[in-house]
Amino acid sequence: MKIYCCAEHVEVGLDNIVDETEVPPFINSLSNKENEEVTNNSSGFTCEYCGKPAVYIVANEHSDTICGQ
Ligand SMILES: [Zn+2]
Repeated sequence: MKIYCCAEHVEVGLDNIVDETEVPPFINSLSNKENEEVTNNSSGFTCEYCGKPAVYIVANEHSDTICGQ
């Protein structure tokens, strides 16, 4: 499960994931390239709650992470 959200709604996203999965979620920033310069929304992701450009991905699973065996 993965929720894209803006800075305002990151907590809502966290709550939703915890409610639905009861697993502690992770927050990944979409803006580590250019110091939070996501306002032009070049990534194309938008907040699931308000439609603004997403700043974070809240997820409950490791994707592409080292999954230490
Ligand atoms: Zn939002």
